[in-house]
Amino acid sequence: MSSQHLPVQFAPFRLARQGQRLKGAIEIKGMARLTEALSDTEGAVGIELQFGIDEQGTFYARGHLSTQIQMTCQRCMKPVTLPIEADVALVFVSGDDQARNLAPDYDPYMVGNDAVTLAELVEDELILALPIVALHEDKTCEPILERLHTEADQSDQTQVKPNPFAVLSEWEGKK
Ligand SMILES: [Zn+2]
Repeated sequence: MSSQHLPVQFAPFRLARQGQRLKGAIEIKGMARLTEALSDTEGAVGIELQFGIDEQGTFYARGHLSTQIQMTCQRCMKPVTLPIEADVALVFVSGDDQARNLAPDYDPYMVGNDAVTLAELVEDELILALPIVALHEDKTCEPILERLHTEADQSDQTQVKPNPFAVLSEWEGKK
């Protein structure tokens, strides 16, 4: 990936006035709120953001985020790798009044003292793009609930409480 050096923080209104473009990649490791939802914190996000001012005088950033994250599959409880592709269309606003008059195809991004931390903005956008429930796409994985039920059924049928050491040696024998 061809990358320029990405700033840790940037001044969105200045970048918009200059029509700047940010392109590169940052690691997801430092994004605490995002990695809370993940089963692995390795990886990076590809970032491409074009800043500008549209005909209405709106200071915007449009672009795309691309990454692969690892979450826990809610069917089998094993890790699943999911591609995340997120389109970004943000308007930088410094007050509530501006946020109310936005075009519907933009999301408002509140800017406090004219400096935005790039990793925070990217993290916010990725959290919105996460699936509500992570699942293996091919649906070939074994549901953990069914597995537990099957095990429970089998122990019901035997009517006797299995000796844990017998179960262990049986399991050892299967290896
Ligand atoms: Zn699964």
